[in-house]
Amino acid sequence: GDSHGRKPGLPAHIQAKIQDHPCYSEEAHHHFARMHLAVAPACNIQCHYCNRKYDCSNESRPGVVSEVLKPAQAIHKALTVAASIPEMTVVGIAGPGDALANPTRTFATFRGIREQDPGIKLCLSTNGLALPQHVDELVALGVDHVTITINSIDPEIGARIHPWVLWERRRVFGREGARILISQQQKGLEMLVERGVLVKVNSVMIPGINDHHLKDVSRRVKEKGAFLHNVMPLISDPAHGTYFGLNGQRGPTEAELSALRDACEGDMNMMRHCRQCRADAVGMLGEDRGEAFSLARIDQDL
Ligand code: SF4
Ligand code: SF4
Repeated sequence: GDSHGRKPGLPAHIQAKIQDHPCYSEEAHHHFARMHLAVAPACNIQCHYCNRKYDCSNESRPGVVSEVLKPAQAIHKALTVAASIPEMTVVGIAGPGDALANPTRTFATFRGIREQDPGIKLCLSTNGLALPQHVDELVALGVDHVTITINSIDPEIGARIHPWVLWERRRVFGREGARILISQQQKGLEMLVERGVLVKVNSVMIPGINDHHLKDVSRRVKEKGAFLHNVMPLISDPAHGTYFGLNGQRGPTEAELSALRDACEGDMNMMRHCRQCRADAVGMLGEDRGEAFSLARIDQDL
């Protein structure tokens, strides 16, 4: 691509959607910034690699848990940041739990931003369980980038990663829970693609559990029209506590990670510049200016 993140050979309407989103275009991440608003504390599934002392590990590097913002605080933060960082093109909700397990807070935040600054691109990350019933509302708000974390398309493997899901007010365990999660993710993906929303799929690579399976995941999501696949390493750091259920589970080596990305590459656009940002990250990828826009400062202003 050229210096504005254009990739040759892509249709114009897709070009227009990726060229100023730092995560969808490798080039754009040198020029444009994003921010995450931590408005979503609850989650509707359990991932063995999740450690709730930190942000949703779907996207986030274990760090410190983000301060959860109320929608009014989040809207104010987004508008303040947009006014002071001109490169800020994208506002996303990615945790610290699951954006769609907190639909009231998530949609109130998006709506407020949309009303006050229609130029900001809205972006959302989700595990996908509650995605299908929210697709219409996302589209109505003009959310045109969605990330779904898909770690498997096989309930047997899925159950080793996700011990339960919260479904129709009950916990559903094991393979049945994983089957529901997978089918909701695939349905959500299809619905978004049908409506022209650009979908990125994140997968957490867990050696010995889904590493060999992720090529199949990549092929499947490409067939269904996902735009980009982001294979992220399981981050397993004893300093951050053990991931319950995956005690002693190692993350992949650099070599294993790039071998898998290469193996998927023939079939799919692979993202290689993801920084596994925190749920409250602000700024260019790899840079975090969140401190400058902390809750204490927002409350002073409000
Ligand atoms: Fe944790 Fe995110 Fe998984 Fe929910 S979706 S259990 S917050 S890693
Ligand atoms: Fe982009 Fe990855 Fe950061 Fe999400 S975690 S904002 S995909 S770089």
